[in-house]
Amino acid sequence: MEQTVSYQEPAPFPDRENPFESMMKRFDVAADILGLEQGVYEYLKRPVRQYIVSIPIQMDDGRIEVFEGYRVIHSDVMGPSKGGVRFTPDVTLDEVKALAAWMTWKCAVVNIPFGGAKGAVRCDPAKLTRVEVEKITRRYTANLIDVFGPDKDVPAPDMNTDEQIMAWIMDTYSMHTHRTENAVVTGKPLILGGSLGRKEATGRGVMATTISALERLNVPVSKTRVVVQGFGNVGSVSASLLQGAGCLVTGISDISGGYLNKRGIDVQDALAYAAAHRTLEGWKGGEWVTQEELLTTECDVLVPAAKEDQITPAVARGVKARVIVEGANGPTMASADGILEEKGIMVVPDILANSGGVTVSYFEWVQDRIGYFWSLERVNQRLDVMMRTAFEAVFQTAQQHRVPLRIGAYIMAIDKVAKTLKLRGIYA
Ligand code: NAD
Repeated sequence: MEQTVSYQEPAPFPDRENPFESMMKRFDVAADILGLEQGVYEYLKRPVRQYIVSIPIQMDDGRIEVFEGYRVIHSDVMGPSKGGVRFTPDVTLDEVKALAAWMTWKCAVVNIPFGGAKGAVRCDPAKLTRVEVEKITRRYTANLIDVFGPDKDVPAPDMNTDEQIMAWIMDTYSMHTHRTENAVVTGKPLILGGSLGRKEATGRGVMATTISALERLNVPVSKTRVVVQGFGNVGSVSASLLQGAGCLVTGISDISGGYLNKRGIDVQDALAYAAAHRTLEGWKGGEWVTQEELLTTECDVLVPAAKEDQITPAVARGVKARVIVEGANGPTMASADGILEEKGIMVVPDILANSGGVTVSYFEWVQDRIGYFWSLERVNQRLDVMMRTAFEAVFQTAQQHRVPLRIGAYIMAIDKVAKTLKLRGIYA
């Protein structure tokens, strides 16, 4: 007999900040400096649309399980909204709201014509079969069929979602619209209209902004000691490319813990191990440490590339790096910002450091729409130029207002979106 099970609300996390409030703390500082008009402030603070969808799935054993899905469109002022979809067991609507707003600011910082959105399904893919993941993806897409569209809202991969999941989104959307519509999603497999270089784009952007930061600090790239938290798409590519650029990667981590090696981690060996075992657990290429020990170990550059709220005030007090390059979204708690600033640590903020992914997503969308595909060389070269240009613009803005790079990035982004909003006017 069929049984209906509804998904459990996640337990509250005492070690987490409310991500939306955390984003708003930075937003408020920047808005204050800009002297943002109250009405514009209220407009930009609120997501324009928020959807909660119910996703009933028949599991492989015959049971029906009901998952909850979200899509938040924070802003469509600059163009179609853009943002990834994550499949995680503890995701909340507030987290998705914060991530959607970050996408608005990220697209503005890196100067691409998109607004911001984010989506999620509260589920644990590690406990699901591939068939169940496909059903969740297709039902989620079908429920949001009128929301998505190449000119409306364009999803992409994020935590625990990959190329195959993007292919299922594209196929489901195409089935409903009765035509093959590859520009509805980015981060697709190449053969379906994906872009060369998309998979590595976020890590490549992390590398570009790390090098820009080191140049500004007059620190040579060669032998710079780098520690990376997270060994998924962003973390593993960042570690690999930074090593390729001449840095010495002395620490990596994934959910199983951290691995330190002062003489240098063999990143390629770790990649092969993680590919074979789906985790670094049991890897012998470094001394095992806790996440906190990894984040506070002696190094020059720290790249948190796992998830939110990893740099708590306590961790921030222990951080020894000169530069933090935020590969993840929201890895530093707002309450830790001041501690890092006092310690003189340069923080390359998420909305700049990890914007390489959405930049190449933009390239992918452009290529799909014109039906002409670029070489890897062209993608990487244009990405590098856009990342370095964005870094310089943020750096100049921060200097001009005598604020950290994070606030500089927010000032730049909010100013651009607010000016566009003013020109468009308020429709009534
Ligand atoms: P992923 O699922 O590929 O990898 C996440 C990694 O973090 C895994 O190695 C996992 O083991 C590790 N991890 C998870 N929880 C952890 C914990 N508590 N402590 C330590 N490690 C932990 O995800 P991803 O695509 O690499 O995304 C990572 C971060 O980067 C997220 O914040 C995401 O929003 C952000 N981001 C991703 C992209 C992209 O293009 N994929 C773009 C911009 C930002």
